[in-house]
Amino acid sequence: MRKDFLPFTRPAINESDIQAVTEVLRSGWITNGPVNAAFEKAVCDFTGNSHGVALSSATAAMHLLLKAMKIGPGDEVITPSMTWVSIVNMIVLAGAKPVFVDVDRETLLVTPEAIAAAITPHTRLIVPVHFAGAALDLDGIRRVAGSIPVVEDAAHALGTWYKGRHIGSTGTAIYSFHAIKNVTTGEGGMLVTDDKAFADSIRAWKFHGIGMDAFDRQNRGRSPQAEVLFPGFKYNLTDICAALGLSQLNRIVNINTKRRELAMLYRHELADIPEIRPLADPQGYDFRHAWHLFVVRVDSPKMGRDEFMTALKAENIGTGLHFRCAHLQKYYREEMGFRPGMLPATEYNSDHICSLPLFPDMDFEDVIDVVKAIKTVLGRK
Ligand SMILES: *Cc1c(COP(=O)(O)O)cnc(C)c1O
Repeated sequence: MRKDFLPFTRPAINESDIQAVTEVLRSGWITNGPVNAAFEKAVCDFTGNSHGVALSSATAAMHLLLKAMKIGPGDEVITPSMTWVSIVNMIVLAGAKPVFVDVDRETLLVTPEAIAAAITPHTRLIVPVHFAGAALDLDGIRRVAGSIPVVEDAAHALGTWYKGRHIGSTGTAIYSFHAIKNVTTGEGGMLVTDDKAFADSIRAWKFHGIGMDAFDRQNRGRSPQAEVLFPGFKYNLTDICAALGLSQLNRIVNINTKRRELAMLYRHELADIPEIRPLADPQGYDFRHAWHLFVVRVDSPKMGRDEFMTALKAENIGTGLHFRCAHLQKYYREEMGFRPGMLPATEYNSDHICSLPLFPDMDFEDVIDVVKAIKTVLGRK
């Protein structure tokens, strides 16, 4: 058995990250300011989009965009149930109705066909997820969406390309920089968009509805008597956080290359264990995976997924669960009437998926340890 515990993930923090954060701490300006602006520009340069708004989380981005789009009671928002539940919570808190679409059983991606079937005259927004870092069929989704806005949940997709263009290069997408994401700010997020008016509106919504923040007032010579145009929120990102994100973004290509190499080794090593089935790549279009997660389905007559995770932990291997489907969680079952059987592929995966350790500071030997431990707990040689 492995001597030390291998966690499911660990943030990749190096000396230049620490240096970058330290500089902000010594600079005299620690909340959002010049480093936020630099981080926004860097994410735009990397993704190819034109406006970035740094925020305290991707959940905040979702909250603000629903407000800015005036989505509320009577409106429907299409999204998968196989997503991080905060997205669904924001839809419900806005007073709108989440309309869940099933995912492809092997990729966990929503398909244009499933979205087309869920569209009604009340549909105001579609929020598909680039699950685990694989790319959605964006052309297909945009075609069925027609004039209905699509906001891509790109929380897993920094470093994902679709047909030669980075995810979020056009339209509107939201990224997360939560501690486990490929680039982290501890907590943080960003909305990118090619619509300047929308970006300006999100900026106002993120800071009290004033339309400018303390940094604008002090350093950009705008009116210090700026007024509240409407009551907004306070979802700005600190420069302490932005400095970490900016520093990490400099090596996103290296980070994701290492993730890919580890993922390829997993695929190779797991190929002869039929009870452990990794997700499949989507077919029919060219894309580049960001390998945010390495998700497998545990399909063994010997043990269920939960037992498998517990057994691996006893072997000093950590795992994660991304995600338990939203529609069968207590509130959604009891208050909104969602029932088992509504989304068969989502529910099958919700019961069988598990995320294996994957982070850039892992060694290839660690992958071998994980596979050995899997064989041990499944009673294989
Ligand atoms: C992490 C995540 C989010 C939310 O990100 P936060 O920054 O933690 O709010 C949203 N959607 C998906 C699919 C995620 O994995």
